[in-house]
Amino acid sequence: MGKTIINILGAGRSGTTMLDLILGSDNESFSMGEVCAWFRPFREHHFTIDCNCGNPKCKYWLALKGVDESKFYTHAFTKWNVKYIIDSSKNLSWMIDGHSWAKKQNIEVINFIIYKPIIDYIFSIWKRGESVDAALYRYKLYYKRFFESGIDAYAVNFDELVNNTDTMLDVITDITKQPKVENRHQFWVKEHHHLFGSGGTRNQAKEGESKIKTKESFPEEFVKQIPDFKNRIERDKQLSRILLKLEQIDVKEKNRQPNHGIRKPLWYYYLKIHNRFKTKFPSSSKTKF
Ligand SMILES: [Zn+2]
Repeated sequence: MGKTIINILGAGRSGTTMLDLILGSDNESFSMGEVCAWFRPFREHHFTIDCNCGNPKCKYWLALKGVDESKFYTHAFTKWNVKYIIDSSKNLSWMIDGHSWAKKQNIEVINFIIYKPIIDYIFSIWKRGESVDAALYRYKLYYKRFFESGIDAYAVNFDELVNNTDTMLDVITDITKQPKVENRHQFWVKEHHHLFGSGGTRNQAKEGESKIKTKESFPEEFVKQIPDFKNRIERDKQLSRILLKLEQIDVKEKNRQPNHGIRKPLWYYYLKIHNRFKTKFPSSSKTKF
């Protein structure tokens, strides 16, 4: 039986959890959520099994407890008996390592990178009380590092995914070869066992709120700042380059150039160590470095 890991990449607050759950919504697929946080915890709550099903002793995750991260894919496919595993960890050093583990274990890897139109992304950060600078910084940093990593991924525009959901899912599942199930976008129907990820989307999966979240309407206070944001965006050459490159690898682009050869830029080591160091703060004497 062929085995495929489907990675969902993207800056935080870009719909990664939603796409993860949608692709995990058939009987051959398992949506894992942000599994990297479990193996490489960086917040206190990552030390416990935070499964969407609410059971702290969830059998799916208990079955994998103590498995070395490099062997984890093989174990997961065997224990869960599925063909597709979806991972929305997003962490790029985890993804880089995952590609080499998968290769050794003869597992196929397919990557999608989701991105929000920049004004929508700024809004999702702004409404949480953070500045436009913080939003632009994070957006550019994530996608810039993605391109530096050499990971080959199909870009998915969040707007298109929520507005033309069926068409987009058809294109995506043509690539993954997952079964064509009706109403795949109704990710809340299936009981998922995914870890961490976007709180809002997880609640939706739990409570079965039956509607895919479309574009949010902006409040007046945000709307009046949009011309100023647009001005800044237009002058930002680095951002324009990133957006252009994302368009070039769009999932619908017929002549897309695959990205070959994964690299380990300096930040790869930083992201890896950063997570490890952060494991220190629950003051566990067992933590080894
Ligand atoms: Zn569970």
